[in-house]
Amino acid sequence: MKKHNFSAGPSILPQEVLLKASEAIMDFDNSGLSLIEISHRSKQFVDVMENARALVLELMGLEGKGYKALFLQGGASTQFLMVALNLLEKRAGYLNTGAWSQKAIKEAKKLDDIYEVASSENANFNYIPKGYDIPLDYDYFHCTSNNTIFGTQIKDFPKCEIPMVCDMSSDIFSRKLDFTQFDLIYAGAQKNMGPAGTTLVVVKEDILGKVSRDIPSIMDYKIHIKQGSMFNTPPVFAVYTSMLTLEWLKRMGGIAGIEVENEKKARIMYSEIDLNPLFKGFAAKEDRSHMNATFNLINDNLKDTFETMLKEAGISGVNGHRSVGGYRASMYNALPLDSVKVLVEVMSELESKA
Ligand SMILES: *Cc1c(COP(=O)(O)O)cnc(C)c1O
Repeated sequence: MKKHNFSAGPSILPQEVLLKASEAIMDFDNSGLSLIEISHRSKQFVDVMENARALVLELMGLEGKGYKALFLQGGASTQFLMVALNLLEKRAGYLNTGAWSQKAIKEAKKLDDIYEVASSENANFNYIPKGYDIPLDYDYFHCTSNNTIFGTQIKDFPKCEIPMVCDMSSDIFSRKLDFTQFDLIYAGAQKNMGPAGTTLVVVKEDILGKVSRDIPSIMDYKIHIKQGSMFNTPPVFAVYTSMLTLEWLKRMGGIAGIEVENEKKARIMYSEIDLNPLFKGFAAKEDRSHMNATFNLINDNLKDTFETMLKEAGISGVNGHRSVGGYRASMYNALPLDSVKVLVEVMSELESKA
C-alpha cells in the first residue's frame, strides 16, 4: 500500500511522474536506450533541458523579462556560496529566519561583510521579522521564503530597491507571487520539484557581471547561461524528472491551480492543530507555512499511542526536525488532500481516545 508521505525532503512526487520516470529509465521515448545511458548532448536530452528551462519561466510568468533558468548541481547549499561569489562586492544584507538562512550567511561571510537586517533567533525562529530596513548601498538582500524546519513562511516580501535574492527551496511553485520582484531565486529540487540532484536557479541576467573577483568557471552563472545549463554533464535524471513534475503542474492549472489545493490542505491541517486541545502549533499564526506545518503534543504521555496510530494509518515522515522536536507535516504540491484528511482523522481520533 502506498503510504501517506509527509517527508520534508526528499519528498513526495506525483505518482504519474514516478511512473513515467521509471519507464524512461528502461526505455527513453522508444529509443531502445535508457535516459541515463545516452549522451547529454544528444538532441533528445537537449530538448529535455530546454523544455524544463522554458517551463520554469512560463510557470513563473517570467518569459521575455530578462530572466534565465538553470539546472545546476550541488544543492541549495552550493548556492549559499555561489550567490555571494557572483553578487557580493562589498556588503550584503540577510534576513535571518532560521537554520537555512544561517547557513547562507555563514558561507557568504567567508567572502565579505554580511549584515543581518533582522532575525527571529530570539524566539527560536517561530516568526518572520517585519518592518526592517534594507540599506540602499548594499549589493543585494537575501531571504528564505519558507522556513522548512520551523514552519514559517514569508507572506509579504519587503519592498526592495536593491537586487533581492531568495532561497525558495521548500515552497517554489506552491503559491502565486510576483516573481519579477526577485532578481535571483534558487531552490534545491528535492522539496517541491523533483528528485535530489539538481538545483534550480532563476536569475535576472542584468545583475550579473558586476563584481571584480575572478569567479571560478563552475561557480559563474554567466558561464552556465552561455552554455545553456550544460557547462558540464548535467544530472540528467533529476532534470528529466523535474521537467515531468513541471508538466504535471501545468496540467494542474499551474501555480494558481496548485495554490488553491495547497490552501485547502493548510486550512484543514491548521484548524485541527488549533481546535484539538491535545496539540499546539509551533509557528506564529500569521507566519505559518502552507508547506510545513509544525506542531507538538501538549502531553508527552500520548506520544507512543499517537505514533502507533500514525503508523497504522500508513502515515510516514511526520517527525519534526531534531532542532524543533514534535511533528512536522510537509504538504508539498504533490501531497494529495486525502493524505491530510487521514492525518487529521488520526489526530481527532486521539482526542476521542484521550
Ligand atoms: C533543504 C533546504 C536547503 C538545502 O538544500 P540542499 O539541496 O540539501 O543543499 C536550503 N534551503 C532550504 C530553505 C531548504 O529547505
